[in-house]
Amino acid sequence: MRLSAIARQLRKTLGRDAVLDRPEDLMLYEYDAGVAKATPGLVVFPQTTEHVVAVVKAAREAQVSIVPRGAGTGLSGGSISRDCGIVMVFSRMNRILELDLMNLRAVVQPGVVNLDLSAAVNPEGFYFAPDPSSQRACTIGGNVAANSGGPHTLAYGVTVNHVTGMEVVLADGHVARLGGKAADSAGYDLTGFFVGTEGTLGIVTAVTVKLSRISEAVSTMLAIFNTVDDAANTVVALTAGGITPTALEMLDGWTLRTVEEATHAGYPMDSGAVLLIEVEGLRESIPEQQAAVTEICRRQNAREVRIARNETERQLLWAGRKNAFAAIGRLANSYYTQDGVVPRTRIPATLRYIDEVGKKYGVHIGNVFHAGDGNLHPVILYDLRDPEQVEQVHRISQEILQWCVELGGSITGEHGVGLEKQNMMPMMFSPDELEVMERLRRAINPSAVLNPGKILPTTLGCGEINVARARPRGAHP
Ligand SMILES: Cc1cc2nc3c(=O)[nH]c(=O)nc-3n(C[C@H](O)[C@H](O)[C@H](O)COP(=O)(O)OP(=O)(O)OC[C@H]3O[C@@H](n4cnc5c(N)ncnc54)[C@H](O)[C@@H]3O)c2cc1C
Repeated sequence: MRLSAIARQLRKTLGRDAVLDRPEDLMLYEYDAGVAKATPGLVVFPQTTEHVVAVVKAAREAQVSIVPRGAGTGLSGGSISRDCGIVMVFSRMNRILELDLMNLRAVVQPGVVNLDLSAAVNPEGFYFAPDPSSQRACTIGGNVAANSGGPHTLAYGVTVNHVTGMEVVLADGHVARLGGKAADSAGYDLTGFFVGTEGTLGIVTAVTVKLSRISEAVSTMLAIFNTVDDAANTVVALTAGGITPTALEMLDGWTLRTVEEATHAGYPMDSGAVLLIEVEGLRESIPEQQAAVTEICRRQNAREVRIARNETERQLLWAGRKNAFAAIGRLANSYYTQDGVVPRTRIPATLRYIDEVGKKYGVHIGNVFHAGDGNLHPVILYDLRDPEQVEQVHRISQEILQWCVELGGSITGEHGVGLEKQNMMPMMFSPDELEVMERLRRAINPSAVLNPGKILPTTLGCGEINVARARPRGAHP
């Protein structure tokens, strides 16, 4: 069946306005927040699980691929269709189905925006802990598929730690209900298994998540340093000193100046680096935690430790961090946000290495990242219209990620593998390990109808990334 015939069939089931096939409409779904680009053949907007099943069955019959898509804020090309298939967008499945506050659970449709869930339960004293910096836009379905983290991952863990159940539409159209509201369920932990599979094994149509209680008190501090080295050493000193902040974020001097010019968060323009440090707990515990953090920062040469005096000041400090990428977006035609992990103790050496790589290639590499997790996000400005710069950016990324792996880290901390890093997987996994993953995929998604050509290595090399070169502007997240 050709795509036009599928479109006709699906319009009858999903509604006329739930299927897009005009080129000017399809263009909007050619990219996510990463650098790759490819035009889908069809875009559909299901409103129910039954709609999702209908699309899967139609696609399977016609051997057309389906790529699930939340808000398209993913940074690894996961939600673009590389073979002109169907992109299934969840913006109309955005209802909170159940709030079970007594049991600290919520059941949501995949298109619920991350921050909207917290906003819904904040008045009752609860929130949803996974908080990607994109939380104003990204969806819970996307968080589950990418196993997203965020500034508070250090204390609360990534998305998988907050999902207890889900409903998934499988590649043959069957609907599987995995887990539930209980913290653990019998048998294989299929809920945990499906988290982070980036839409390659099933389409998530409902998620049961844990809700967390808002702490009685919270304090956010800005530690200001003259050098990146001092700030990086402080990250290690804080955790070695027995302090686990709920968030420990770092911005280097170049990044904080860029952010400050755009958001006026109060970051000092003449500093070499800042750490954003948050502690939580009972009200009485806060002064003691603040004092311990301040003492360690000062021992590591912090020239000042500012403590937000009220919620407005606290939000302002966070606004700088959360809008960092948007601020960087003002500087260049495009930029590449890398995502790698190193053991926390190797952060100082890694930042020096990143600086050396930048000097070697004659580009500046900024750093804004989840320091407490060792999860780095080197940012490289470039011009997407210049193929040589695109090549160079990929070489730089490859070198940095190779370094991360050699130190016992990873090629991705939270953005997923997607299309962008699939051919780096052999850096981390042996052929036997990759074969296990391939077998699992073949067992669960045998027709490869769901998000094909993602996560596992292909023989296509960087060719798929080439499609991005034609993209004129706005590749920055
Ligand atoms: C400015 C900015 C800051 C960011 N900060 C962070 C951060 O701090 N931490 C972090 O982890 N990430 C971060 N990201 C990356 C991104 O926001 C996350 O990966 C997010 O979870 C993606 O959600 P989304 O709804 O946009 O998903 P999309 O980008 O639409 O999709 C992501 C992946 O999930 C799959 N998918 C989406 N919905 C479903 C579904 N219902 N069923 C099955 N598969 C599905 C897609 O196929 C794709 O593979 C950031 C991105 C930007 C642009």
